[in-house]
Amino acid sequence: MVSSFEVQGIAASDGIAIEKAYLLKDPDLSFSPKRIKNVNNEVVRIHDALDKAEKEINKIKSQAQKTVGVDEAQIFQVQIEILTDPEYTQEISNEILEQNISAEQALKTVTDKYIAKFNSIRGNDYLKERVFDVRDVYKRVLAHLLNVDLPNPSLIDKDVIIVASEIGTSSFAQFNTKYIKGFISDLGGRTSHVAIMSRSLEVPAIVGASDATSKIKNEQTIILDGSQGICIVNPDQALIEKYRQKEIEFKKQKQALESFKEQPSVTQDGIKHTIAGNIGTPKDTKAVIDNGGEGVGLFRSEFLYMHSSDWPTEQQQFDAYKQVVSDMKPRPVVIRTMDIGGDKNLPYLQLKHERNPFLGYRAIRISLDKQDIFRTQLRALIRASAFGNLWIMFPMIATLNEFREAKKIYKEEFDKLVKNGQKVGKIKVGMMMEIPAAAVLADKFAKEVDFMSIGTNDLIGYSMAADRGNEKVSYLYQPYNPSVIRLIKYIVDSAHKEKKYVAMCGEMAGDPIAVPLLVGMGLDEFSMSATSMLKTRSLMKHLDSKEMKTLVDKAIEAETADEVVQMVKKAVK
Ligand code: PEP
Ligand code: MG
Repeated sequence: MVSSFEVQGIAASDGIAIEKAYLLKDPDLSFSPKRIKNVNNEVVRIHDALDKAEKEINKIKSQAQKTVGVDEAQIFQVQIEILTDPEYTQEISNEILEQNISAEQALKTVTDKYIAKFNSIRGNDYLKERVFDVRDVYKRVLAHLLNVDLPNPSLIDKDVIIVASEIGTSSFAQFNTKYIKGFISDLGGRTSHVAIMSRSLEVPAIVGASDATSKIKNEQTIILDGSQGICIVNPDQALIEKYRQKEIEFKKQKQALESFKEQPSVTQDGIKHTIAGNIGTPKDTKAVIDNGGEGVGLFRSEFLYMHSSDWPTEQQQFDAYKQVVSDMKPRPVVIRTMDIGGDKNLPYLQLKHERNPFLGYRAIRISLDKQDIFRTQLRALIRASAFGNLWIMFPMIATLNEFREAKKIYKEEFDKLVKNGQKVGKIKVGMMMEIPAAAVLADKFAKEVDFMSIGTNDLIGYSMAADRGNEKVSYLYQPYNPSVIRLIKYIVDSAHKEKKYVAMCGEMAGDPIAVPLLVGMGLDEFSMSATSMLKTRSLMKHLDSKEMKTLVDKAIEAETADEVVQMVKKAVK
């Protein structure tokens, strides 16, 4: 019996899961070059491997069509075309016969040649993108030659916990989420996309576990405690029992929160706030309503762009926005215009490699540069406004000029549509407060916007100069640092001075240590993952707004984040 051991990381999504590990890690694909006597046998081997790889990709493709959609599955068609390209396959056979080398060696030589050729064609980004597909195809054929299994996330058909180095948004597209009971990744922080997605899927997750993939083996039983950031590998029966009990407790607590569903979001002394949900797709409105959400405080519209193989059309966008505002009606829905760039790339946008993508060409910067794309999105939004209560928000605003320019373009599209007889709703136009330079000028912005929403995921990262997804600097990613608290308070006060509505849609809005402080500041709206809403409403009910205001006054005078945490814990017993 192998003894059990723990892997620790950052608690990213609450809950307990006990399942077998599914390791998303490439197996050892190394081989040694050797001279071959029976070359004909090698030709048979390569054809056999190509055949098996093709069948496998076809299977993955049809599975992906069912789970993530026909467009997304198209990437596998490209791989099949590479794999069956007669020029490529013939060249591998010729290489074996002419050089007396193994199938593995010939496959590598010919693939390297293709990759070098694709890379050398200047200015053709499409071909450069295909290099990834060629590499994937190569790996798959080689795995068949070496008789080892590659992980195939889209073929998972039983309950598992995913163990991976990093889980990007594109990996999510390959999962049938019904079978995914939890995640643990080597990389990532609490606000990385895997963390946010796990919370919306309501499955436990641990991120930034640094060595999970080197310590956990495929098929090993693991316990994932997403609330504590602890993963137990090879647990004995007693431990499994203990955690099954914890799981039952967790579910009971969740059920107890149900009673808050129909209740207003008020403090102990009756001060009303709004609790809203963050969503990534129109389907997610169901979870917001089921969890008693009073609106959508952030619809990350970029998911529409990422789940498509080309720019989504005005009509496609209109359909999605209309569905969200109609489903939520009469509750308000804040839709954020495209926030692509940073860690969210689009193959068809053909972004150039940047040294600092998080400080680079992204979000509103792309929208103001590629105005036709921005205008298409704005038209879709304005048309959808007729069907509910729509607010539009611009991401990554750094300067007043950017906001003014974006608003001007919006106004032009709005006026054109109205002139043409388009029915429209009463739209509010606001901005994300997520860049420190803008936050410091919040008093000026407050005069021009209809509302602000504080994006703490980025605001903290930029303030502390600590990448939100890098576990090596996660100790610096400090939501409770007095500097961050001061900045947030300044934004809230500035908005209120101008009688403007101020929300928070960063993950901090649902963080039990931050909520008392935000209540003390008088934040109007708390927008978060649907699964955190009831917990936040129940916490709010126990807070006295005047006591929390005193707490904030003390917290902004603190010196360290730890001091602030201690103050909050003392004030909220
Ligand atoms: C934020 O930065 O806080 C935010 C809500 O936006 P995103 O997480 O999509 O960057
Ligand atoms: Mg952001």
